Amino acid sequence: MDFTANLTEIIPRTHNVKSFRFSRPAGFDYKAGQYIFVTLTVSGEIVRKPLTISSSPTENDHLEITKKLTGHDFSNTLDAMVVSDVMDIDGPYGNLTFGGEYSNIALLSGGIGITPMISICKYCTDTGLDTKVIIISSNKTQQDIVFRNELDQIEQSNTNLKVVYVLTRADDDWEGFRGRTSESMIIRDIPNYKDYVFYLCGPPVMLGSMVAILDGLGVPKERIKQESFVGY
Ligand SMILES: Cc1cc2nc3c(=O)[nH]c(=O)nc-3n(C[C@H](O)[C@H](O)[C@H](O)COP(=O)(O)OP(=O)(O)OC[C@H]3O[C@@H](n4cnc5c(N)ncnc54)[C@H](O)[C@@H]3O)c2cc1C
Repeated sequence: MDFTANLTEIIPRTHNVKSFRFSRPAGFDYKAGQYIFVTLTVSGEIVRKPLTISSSPTENDHLEITKKLTGHDFSNTLDAMVVSDVMDIDGPYGNLTFGGEYSNIALLSGGIGITPMISICKYCTDTGLDTKVIIISSNKTQQDIVFRNELDQIEQSNTNLKVVYVLTRADDDWEGFRGRTSESMIIRDIPNYKDYVFYLCGPPVMLGSMVAILDGLGVPKERIKQESFVGY
C-alpha cells in the first residue's frame, strides 16, 4: 500500500534516536517485525529508505518508525521534520515477523536493531499470547538502550517475557552484563535454546557473529530468522 502520512508526534528515545508517529491509514495491515519504505526529498533528490515499524499491529491509532540519527543526509532530513509534515510511505515488507506461530522465541538485537523486537514484544503482550519470549538487547552504553522503559514495563506485565541487556562499553556503575552477546550468555539465559526460534536484527557484523554462535550450538538454520540493517 502507498500512502502519504502526516507526522502526528515525535518522541525522543535516546541522545541519538527518535520515534516518528503518524496516523495508521484505514486498511493498512502489517505483521509485528515488518518494515516500510519512507521516501523523502533529501538535498533536492528523492531518497527511499527502509525503516522498521516499531509500533505493534495491536496499536490501531498510529504507526511508528524509530530512526537512529546518524548525522547523514537522510537522517538529518527526517530529524528536521516537525509535526504535520508529510512523508511518502509504501509497505509493509519483510519476513522477520511473528504472529504467534512459535511457542518459544529468542530476540537478539544489536543497537537500533531493537525496532522489530519492540513491535514483537508489544504484540505478544497486547494479545496475551503464552509464547515464551526472551530478548537480549546489546548496546554500547546505558544511554544507548532504546525502549528501555518500555521493555522494563512490558517485562513487568508479561510474565512470559524476559529482558536481558548487555553493554559493550558499560560505565563503572552498570550492574548488568558486559561484553557482546556470546555463546555462554545464550546457554545461561536460554538453557533450552534448542526449543527456540531465534530472531536476529542489527548491523551485518553482529548478525554474522550471532549466526556463527548459533550454528556452533547446533541451532538449525530453519530456526534462525534475521534482518540486516545494511547502510546502518
Ligand atoms: C530492512 C531494514 C530495516 C531498517 N530499519 C531501520 C530502523 O528501524 N531504524 C533505523 O535507524 N535504521 C533502519 N535501517 C537502516 C536505514 O534504512 C538506514 O540505512 C540507516 O539508518 C542509515 O541511514 P542514514 O540516515 O544515515 O542514511 P544516509 O544519509 O543515506 O547515509 C547512509 C550512508 O551514506 C553515506 N553518506 C550519506 N550522506 C553522506 C555525506 N553527506 N557525506 C558522506 N557520506 C554520506 C554514509 O556512508 C552513510 O553511512 C533499516 C535497514 C533495513 C535494510
